[in-house]
Amino acid sequence: MDSFDAVVIGAGFAGIYQLYKLRELGLSVKLFEKAPEVGGTWYWNQYPNAASDSPSELYRYSWDKEVLLNYPWPTHVVPQKETQAYLKHMVKRHGLKKHMKFSTELKSASFQDSSWTLSFSTGETVKTTYLIAATGAFNKANWPKIPGREKFSGEQYHSGIWPEKRDLKGKRVGVIGNGSSGAQILVGLAKESGAKQIIAFHREAAYVVPNQIGPVSAEYRDNIVNNYDEFWKGARNCPLGYGFKPLTTPTFDVSAEEREKVYEAAWNDVMAFSFVYKTFSDVLTNDAANKEVCDFIKRKIAKIVEDPGKRARLTPAPDALYAKRPVCCAGYYEIFNQDNVDVVNYQMTPFVGITEKGIQTEDKLHELDVLVYATGFESDGSWASIDISGPNQTLEQHWAEGATSYLGVTEAGFPNFFMVVGPQSAVTNMPPLIEGQVNFITGMISKAESLRKETEVNGKKAILITATQEAEDEYMAECRSLAEGSIYYKDKSFLFADNHTSRKSSKNGRNVLWYLGGLNKYLDKVQEVIDGDYRGFTFAS
Ligand code: NAP
Repeated sequence: MDSFDAVVIGAGFAGIYQLYKLRELGLSVKLFEKAPEVGGTWYWNQYPNAASDSPSELYRYSWDKEVLLNYPWPTHVVPQKETQAYLKHMVKRHGLKKHMKFSTELKSASFQDSSWTLSFSTGETVKTTYLIAATGAFNKANWPKIPGREKFSGEQYHSGIWPEKRDLKGKRVGVIGNGSSGAQILVGLAKESGAKQIIAFHREAAYVVPNQIGPVSAEYRDNIVNNYDEFWKGARNCPLGYGFKPLTTPTFDVSAEEREKVYEAAWNDVMAFSFVYKTFSDVLTNDAANKEVCDFIKRKIAKIVEDPGKRARLTPAPDALYAKRPVCCAGYYEIFNQDNVDVVNYQMTPFVGITEKGIQTEDKLHELDVLVYATGFESDGSWASIDISGPNQTLEQHWAEGATSYLGVTEAGFPNFFMVVGPQSAVTNMPPLIEGQVNFITGMISKAESLRKETEVNGKKAILITATQEAEDEYMAECRSLAEGSIYYKDKSFLFADNHTSRKSSKNGRNVLWYLGGLNKYLDKVQEVIDGDYRGFTFAS
């Protein structure tokens, strides 16, 4: 059986960087990846119009400035292919491919005698001291238990399992879900698929704000390249990981005319997240302030969507807050002006079931050839679907009432087991979070390796890094309190596993799957733990 100091699972943004960092420590490391190539999210999500919805310059690593100069980003929003090409470039540039194995899925991990034994889909088994599952929160597709799903006779696809181009020309396509993936797919289908008819099926209308997808000017890029360290410091210190400065002016401190100007600038901004971080300080804390944003977006919908019926179906209900992770997508409302694009809103015409021929609502049967599920991901699913056995219990037992963690990177009582973007990670722009977590994990492994060398007698003696249950409980209590105090708690979403097919019932109430204090507070917290000599962890042989 092959044996390594460390095994990394997943070749996305997180796994690639983790492999690089552990190689830097001089460890023997192997990365295993389920897909046949590099990319992670950016391999699996090749649906029409898949792109980052955050500024392209943040869809680069911060630790390789050289590549920034030689591998510029062409547009404000990078399409999936471009991000995947960048990751491939980084793997090649740093000679990482020889440490990777593809088309190999981790099935089980069992801890015995101070190491992990891993079994893969290929039948191979390996041993490792450290296991880092960089499998991500948006990996396991959420296939909802919708009545009649098995009866549909056409093709059924999920947005997150779309590893190649699919021919939808001339077909009648239904899209379920209107989160970020659903909005992007609808625009992609309307513009480039040649589909005969596209119908969006929504449980409730969403608020969608356009982002700028055009080319970046040399001036814009030079400004970032020349102030790179400052720029990344700004991203690290911003709750959403984008570099916005904290706002200080509350909504109702300015006149209605002034507010309109601020909202109009946000609507036209490069980044569609502007409404929550570039307008007023209280959009996410005061319902009345939040409603002002909602009303502005509704006025935009009224101006853009020409057909009164479609307009009504696309307009969120009067009491619907702007309280989900913002959906950012250029050209979204405009596509509904195409004759072949329509929308069904279940609040107006309730859903009955999926039939052999399509989707039945109370008023009619919508006949379809293809059903696309843009129904999201189980945020804890990429770990829950691996059979993980620690020294005292399985992960399934540990998560009997829903996923928990210490700082989103490990589980109490599971030695030398780490996750990148594990449950209760900060919900934020991903690359800065990933870098922070990988650096944190690498620091702990580096410390363990130093201790091992000091205590080494007659060969290797592994040091076990284990989070305490007390530390995990304390962290979970903080996550719950942040969640319950947040506006997002007032709406259903993936943040609380509301849509997850395998959601667990918990005596504490809803599952809290994310840390809602912002990236800056999260990384400050991690730094405090490091400064406190890794408070909440034990390092023992
Ligand atoms: P999501 O935000 O969880 O949205 C899932 C959608 O499916 C929601 O509209 C939900 O409706 C609907 N849905 C779920 N179960 C359903 C059911 N049983 N029947 C009908 N509708 C159902 O998933 P996502 O859009 O894939 O996004 C996942 C994450 O990836 C988010 O953080 C997102 O922002 C991110 N993302 C980022 C990018 C990027 O460019 N960086 C692109 C895509 C996605 P309700 O709203 O009614 O619950």
